[in-house]
Amino acid sequence: MLADSYGRVATDLRVSLTDRCNLRCSYCMPPEGLDWLPGAEQLTDDELIRLLGIAVGRLGITEIRFTGGEPLLRRGLPGIVARTAALVPRPEISLTTNGIGLGRLAGALREAGLDRVNVSLDTLDAATFVRLARRDRLADVIAGLAGAAAAGLVPVKVNAVLMRGVNDHEAVDLLQFCIDHGYQMRFIEQMPLDAQHGWRRADMVTADEIFQSLSGKFTLGPDTAHQRGSAPAERFLVDGGPAAVGIIASVTRPFCGSCDRVRLTSDGQVRNCLFARQESDLRGALRAGADDAELAERWRRAVAGKLPGHGINDPGFLQPARPMSAIGG
Ligand code: SAM
Repeated sequence: MLADSYGRVATDLRVSLTDRCNLRCSYCMPPEGLDWLPGAEQLTDDELIRLLGIAVGRLGITEIRFTGGEPLLRRGLPGIVARTAALVPRPEISLTTNGIGLGRLAGALREAGLDRVNVSLDTLDAATFVRLARRDRLADVIAGLAGAAAAGLVPVKVNAVLMRGVNDHEAVDLLQFCIDHGYQMRFIEQMPLDAQHGWRRADMVTADEIFQSLSGKFTLGPDTAHQRGSAPAERFLVDGGPAAVGIIASVTRPFCGSCDRVRLTSDGQVRNCLFARQESDLRGALRAGADDAELAERWRRAVAGKLPGHGINDPGFLQPARPMSAIGG
């Protein structure tokens, strides 16, 4: 098992499949993109599946979420999902994606064993989409959402980051859109993870502001039937239910004390937190011939050193050197 010295146990593995993306969301990366990781540094499919097998078979990981960068850009993704679904014990498998191409791929992914998707959608306005993501792809994302639902990848969750003066007036419309389509809406506070280091606390739209904004149209009440557990989102029933909305207050109400996550980057580094300043190299050991027991022990030691919190609110906080897309959001 992957236990740390604060009594937490990691069971949820977030895996970045590539640092590349076909959008350029301003809260994530600059218009010109990033210096992408060289191909030789990325784990091959076989290397990745071997590490996932160790995670599931020896370390108690029960959930695997593929992310990035944009995971749909990873060649052979349905094959990776199928091989993950064949691991014993079989983990829950989910995907966080911008949805571009999902309309086409959702059926194959579902057939391969994908259980659920989270699709990122920050706006319903095509011009705002271009301003935010610097690409004209809103229609593709909407089609991707519909494709996911049609393929049975449910519940389809929608993630939005609100940016002050850009899309912060759209909270109500986004939630209404999700209610109308049977998707589950979640708003995420903007975190200091952009490659440009442009995050400013005063610009962040807080969870309380999002709640206020939604309360202008909906009545949000506690969702007592749902145990929060280690889930990052605070859930509220909308107008008495059954629709619900999640608000993820990563910055203003951190939930590190119940964190059950660990991350594997596309180049084979273990990270305990989005904001970790240290990584533990598994790829080097793997390519040097380490056996499964050795790799598992390295992974255990890496997680044992997990810090108690993400530190965003500490006076000397420094953003991690690697951007979100490399870490895997
Ligand atoms: N490309 C995929 C996607 O768009 O969902 C997966 C990777 S993306 C980094 C994962 C999630 O992180 C997205 O929902 C995105 O909106 C969110 N994200 C990226 N940068 C963020 C930031 N600075 N603060 C909060 N969320 C962020």
